[in-house]
Amino acid sequence: MPTGSGKKFFITTAIDYANSTPHLGTAYEKIGADVIARYRRLRGDDVYFLMGNDEHSLNVEKRARELGKDPQAYCDEMAERFEATWRRLEISYDRFIRTTDEVHKNAVRKFLQAIYDNGKGDIYKGHYEGWYCVSCEAFYQEKDLAGGNCPTHGTKPEWIREQNWFFKLSKFQDQLIEYITKKNPGFIQPEMRRNEILNVIRGGLQDVSISRAGVKWGIPLPFDDWSVAYVWVDALINYITGAGYGTDEERFRKTWPADVHVIGKDITRFHCIIWPALLWSAGLEPPLKVHAHGFVNLQGAKMSKTLGTVLDPVEVAEKVGVDALRYFLMAEVPFDRDGDFTWERVQDRCNADLANGIGNLLARTTAMIVRYQVGIVRKTPTVREASESFINNSHMGDALEGYRRGMDEMLPSRALEQAWRIVAALDSFIAARKPFQIAKDPARADEVADILYVCAETLRILAILIQPVMPGAAASIWSQLGLPGSVDAQRIDSDLDFFKFPEQGRVTKGDPLFPRLEILPPVDAK
Ligand SMILES: [Zn+2]
Repeated sequence: MPTGSGKKFFITTAIDYANSTPHLGTAYEKIGADVIARYRRLRGDDVYFLMGNDEHSLNVEKRARELGKDPQAYCDEMAERFEATWRRLEISYDRFIRTTDEVHKNAVRKFLQAIYDNGKGDIYKGHYEGWYCVSCEAFYQEKDLAGGNCPTHGTKPEWIREQNWFFKLSKFQDQLIEYITKKNPGFIQPEMRRNEILNVIRGGLQDVSISRAGVKWGIPLPFDDWSVAYVWVDALINYITGAGYGTDEERFRKTWPADVHVIGKDITRFHCIIWPALLWSAGLEPPLKVHAHGFVNLQGAKMSKTLGTVLDPVEVAEKVGVDALRYFLMAEVPFDRDGDFTWERVQDRCNADLANGIGNLLARTTAMIVRYQVGIVRKTPTVREASESFINNSHMGDALEGYRRGMDEMLPSRALEQAWRIVAALDSFIAARKPFQIAKDPARADEVADILYVCAETLRILAILIQPVMPGAAASIWSQLGLPGSVDAQRIDSDLDFFKFPEQGRVTKGDPLFPRLEILPPVDAK
């Protein structure tokens, strides 16, 4: 939780239904959010990163019953499996919330009571009659169905009639438009999602059901024991529970509003329309930003549990390495649109950018420093001149600026492109200056020292730049270069300056950073 001196940065991901284990698409969202969280820590921000599981789904209860398990025991088991997956993928969350946590149940009740009591009649009792997709756990209007079926699942929704509690969403139309277009124009990104949401709001909002009747698995409403909170409302409230709402008001005041909710593009209506309206109604601030990412397709097709074409991210990580998996997803799939996962692309990209790219640079640099200079990075009287020539020729200033802009805009793929401009520049520099040749002439030892200084110093900077995406590789570069402290503790504002390489360091030659991948012929999705 934010306690330090930096700028508060509260980032969340969507919480996941606990009825199946995480797949590659789920992992993509968490890795993307993790990269942003780690980058913000390098910026010196006081980051609070919240993730969790959505447990009050009827699908979760159903799955537990199928397995002959108590729903709560089943959720406990699944939460352990989710957390094990996230730890394996190096996701650096600060808190893992579960919607069956007592603190969350209390927060939901407090929040809904606050709306109920606000004197404006924002919650009222009515009859719901209409379509409901159990898989989505969502209410559908006739016009939103695809040929009478759920647009997501393609299955026929149920026609339900029940007495529900409603939230007066309709009255927030103008306030939402004003918030999105005037007060906080950066609220929804990317632009395409923002336009979609504005169209939905301008098309008119209907009041929404916020409860389910005759359901036991859920959080009973504080003003009606016979109904439970609709699972989506229950889920959204996790973001304020996680910030301290209902348990620690001081922490809540410091933490809320969220700086960004990272979610999939399919759940923007809940986050960009219903959620801000509920918060206003309860007298709270809306989130500052909702970032909707796209989906990772598998060999060109949507991953589908029904078709058995979902990949287990842990199995992929076992094959290619955690860092390579994280790098691939972040470099290949821009965080604001869809992208494709194929084993061919993974192998080609990881071998080109990682094994032959930064990994090879590190291996050559450390080998030469060990061989020619007994592991010492020397600073000669001419080192500054030699370095400045490299900095200018490589346009390093532009690349670093572009890197920061990419990360600030939550587009790690753009930041990585800039980092790899530096990788390419260093590669050309070594090819052009040929230190391995001039090292044969003892009279040119200072010239070799200058070239190797540039190599080592550039790799030190690259280690910091890749740390948010590949924390393991960054730490390994740091240790092979014999640098003091931890790469995680560096600062993106001051530690990217050239000439920081300490002279007393001892460079060693370690294991290859990225072994070449030989995973083809293609391994089929299970
Ligand atoms: Zn559905």
